Amino acid sequence: MTAPVASNTPSVNVFTAPGKAIVGERPKPFGEPLGFDPITSTLIFGEHDAVLVDAMGTVAEAEALADWVALHNRNLQIIYITHGHFDHFYGLSVLLDRFPGARAIATPKTVEAMQSSFVPPLSQFARQLFPGQVPTKLVSPEPYEGDTFTLEGQDLRIIEQGRTDCPDSTSLYVPSIGLIVAGDVVYNQCHMYVGDTTPESRRNWMAAPDRLAALGPAIVIAGHKKPGAADSPSTIPDTKRYLEDFDRLKKTATSDQHVFDQMTELYPPWVAHQSWLMFGFPQP
Ligand SMILES: [Zn+2]
Repeated sequence: MTAPVASNTPSVNVFTAPGKAIVGERPKPFGEPLGFDPITSTLIFGEHDAVLVDAMGTVAEAEALADWVALHNRNLQIIYITHGHFDHFYGLSVLLDRFPGARAIATPKTVEAMQSSFVPPLSQFARQLFPGQVPTKLVSPEPYEGDTFTLEGQDLRIIEQGRTDCPDSTSLYVPSIGLIVAGDVVYNQCHMYVGDTTPESRRNWMAAPDRLAALGPAIVIAGHKKPGAADSPSTIPDTKRYLEDFDRLKKTATSDQHVFDQMTELYPPWVAHQSWLMFGFPQP
């Protein structure tokens, strides 16, 4: 979607890569064939300059994203990475080759959290799951110490969220247009990666949407969303409710199959009915 352009206020547009196949076996014998959920990147742009949030995971996704960014005909200054999961930054080298003037940044903690993805076993594992699709060259954003950067004089504020679906995750807030680019703190009609959570980490994750709701946003862009879904603030309470439902079912359900079936029933329109999202990433 594109917000209306007033003088000196940025606009925003969202790129959604569709879900894709993963090579391998499902970790649990139920749910859809092994696949990855749809991913978003967000372009925030002014009259001349632009900021891209997140950089996709595969070559094909990053090339499509770069083509889409180029259509906006802006000077790409900054690529901000919200968190340390490789589906949001393995594509960075493709973007930086295409836009060599851009500077890629993330918080120092996020940069630290992503380092394990640049070396085996994790990098090797990603290449097994997505054979021939992961960029040969994997690059890290540089650690950015501040909590704010600007686009044509407008503030973009980093909100540190701690552990949500990933350790040391962040969201980005653009007060001038009431925009939150939530990263994977918020999901939009897409089953959430709760398989790597504990009761304690779920409590932290449940507090993160409240931090975003308190800002009274007009637009909220989730890190993963059903293609075409509106970037609505209602995704914030939806995310919290999903976490509460999963947390309750983990305590009361008789089996993993029961948890999975109940969550599918509670969220019928949500995409990515993947057992790994609820019970852990497929292991090599
Ligand atoms: Zn993600």
